[in-house]
Amino acid sequence: MTTGPFDLTGKVAIVTGGNGGIGLGMARGLAEAGADIAVVGRNEAKSNAAAAELKQCGIRAISVIADVTGKTAVADMVGRTVRELGRIDILVNNAGINIRKPPHALDLDEWDSVIRTNLTSAFLCSQAVHPAMKAAGGGKIINIGSMMSIFGASFAPAYAASKGGIVQFTRSCAVAWAADNIQANAVLPGWIDTDLTRRARREIDGLHDKVLGRTPAARWGAIADFAGIAVFLASSASDFVTGTAIPVDGGFSVMG
Ligand code: NDP
Repeated sequence: MTTGPFDLTGKVAIVTGGNGGIGLGMARGLAEAGADIAVVGRNEAKSNAAAAELKQCGIRAISVIADVTGKTAVADMVGRTVRELGRIDILVNNAGINIRKPPHALDLDEWDSVIRTNLTSAFLCSQAVHPAMKAAGGGKIINIGSMMSIFGASFAPAYAASKGGIVQFTRSCAVAWAADNIQANAVLPGWIDTDLTRRARREIDGLHDKVLGRTPAARWGAIADFAGIAVFLASSASDFVTGTAIPVDGGFSVMG
């Protein structure tokens, strides 16, 4: 059980893409700190399994099947969360995809799909939770960026644009909603062992060794590495922290 500034008892969190990978790592941290969780994803079996697992922490968890690129689906997601869990205090905008192609090979549909999933969804979800957060007297928005919020990526132009954009969107929400006692921050993961990067490792020759060589911690990140930052940014411990972009990367971004 968590007490003091990290205690989330009585709080309600929406975690998009909370059914696996980094989102599930964050949802586990929030649940262990006492928050009730709405797990959001498109895959019903995965989402139901994640919600069932999170309930083992003694909190309430619901599985919400939604494609967060759609305004109506997002409104339904927020409506159901408020109806079933009573309020919204925390939003983790984590849903994300990548399409690995250089800029000259990426077509418009691919560009749109990455931007909609990684960036537009954060806008839709943040806008949709704003009234509920205001009504609750404040809130916490945690957006997931990437090392590609900082560095260019020859093989991921839309992904890098979406992840650069999400940092600026985070700053804008932080400034706009400070008066509503809403703090918005971004987390920039380094290379983390998830389905997303398992596929990349299969597709990109030498990626595994490159990541180990370039990461001072000399390992891939684990989804458990995201529990602490999620709890910090979701709790009163971070009430004077807003508009930041915090790397959780084993030192990748400071490696010379
Ligand atoms: P995963 O592929 O494991 O997880 C992605 C999650 O997003 C899944 O839960 C998926 O659920 C959900 N999702 C994707 N599209 C949608 C959609 N349209 N609507 C609702 N949910 C959606 O990847 P990661 O855990 O690695 O990635 C999570 C976030 O972290 C992403 O934003 C990614 O860009 C970022 N990141 C990851 C890094 C890494 O090294 N792994 C590094 C830097 C950033 P479902 O399939 O059910 O829809």
